[in-house]
Amino acid sequence: MTEADMKIPFMDLRVTDTKEKNRMLNAINEVFEHGRMVLGPEVKRLEEKIAMDCGRQFAVGVSSGSTALHLAMKCLDIGPRDEVITTSLSWVATANAVASVGAKPVFVDIKNDLNMNPEKIRGAISPRTKAILAVHWTGKICDMTSIKQIADDNGLFVIEDAAQAYGSSLCGQKAGSFGVLGCFSMNAMKVLASCSDSGMLVTDQNDLYNRLNSLRYAGTINREECVEISLNGRMDTLEAAILLVRLEKLDEIIRKRREVVGWYNEGLQGIVDTPKESENSRDVLYTYVIQTKKRSELREFLRLKGIETKIHHPILLPQQPVYEDVNNAEHYPVAMRAINRILSLPSTEKITKPEVEYVISSIKEFFSHGG
Ligand SMILES: *Cc1c(COP(=O)(O)O)cnc(C)c1O
Repeated sequence: MTEADMKIPFMDLRVTDTKEKNRMLNAINEVFEHGRMVLGPEVKRLEEKIAMDCGRQFAVGVSSGSTALHLAMKCLDIGPRDEVITTSLSWVATANAVASVGAKPVFVDIKNDLNMNPEKIRGAISPRTKAILAVHWTGKICDMTSIKQIADDNGLFVIEDAAQAYGSSLCGQKAGSFGVLGCFSMNAMKVLASCSDSGMLVTDQNDLYNRLNSLRYAGTINREECVEISLNGRMDTLEAAILLVRLEKLDEIIRKRREVVGWYNEGLQGIVDTPKESENSRDVLYTYVIQTKKRSELREFLRLKGIETKIHHPILLPQQPVYEDVNNAEHYPVAMRAINRILSLPSTEKITKPEVEYVISSIKEFFSHGG
């Protein structure tokens, strides 16, 4: 294959593994046979598996990661006049979950690893602060020891936005198992991906578990009596059936993704800033993010080479039009610098070694010309 033919997509969501595809089709067929299309037996099985996987007592399947985050706020009674401290660099769903219950997201700066800086949290605490929403950005788990210490000292809840971190662990403890509630997204792009939208909450608290079961079903109990106002956020049985099949392959997906990270780290060492895994963590990266001050030029160079890259994300949460009036971007110098330097490379389990080598040699070529 000549260079001109090279086309490396950032992501390829097709189901290309024939064995997996056939297992999924069988699983879908079973749902068609039993007909329990929402919260069916596959949802229950998936909940049990995910709770077990994360080392938690309970899991509640919902319609998306956004729904999971929204319901986490609701079931901790976070509402108007409350504040929730979170990171300045995340997908808008993080902040929107806080705002969706009438609370105010209070953003803090990040560290060079792109996760929220715990040292900035104490200064952001006010009498109205109710919780810290820790986002494990790119799949790397936040400094949970510091964050939990700050939360304990101040009587705050810790909620995890683990949407990008399924399977990651820190000191042997899995993402989603640090906070009072852990929230996952299994949308089609995530490492553990369904074929559309779906999400999951995990917890050890029976009362939260029961309340979440009601909250995801219009605030009803016994499927009839409405005890609080909530929208429909149930999980589709078809998505759960597909996810049960995906879970069988998850170890292999994780192994491949970690292998890809290893290739990139080795090849790009000393050329751009690469993600670093700390000694006691095992990261399952959702995105492989490099940093360089020549980001825009490099991105264009790679595009001409047929390599698709992304920027996650070019706009900080406090800069978003809906949030810019409540927060001042000058408070986020590290994050401001990062958004001009970050570049996500293609790094899913589908990418091949020659493709990774092509990306690496293209990046080297760019810098060999002085960038
Ligand atoms: C994907 C994602 C969400 C939202 O999940 P959806 O299932 O797409 O609603 C929230 N937070 C983060 C960090 C995400 O990556």
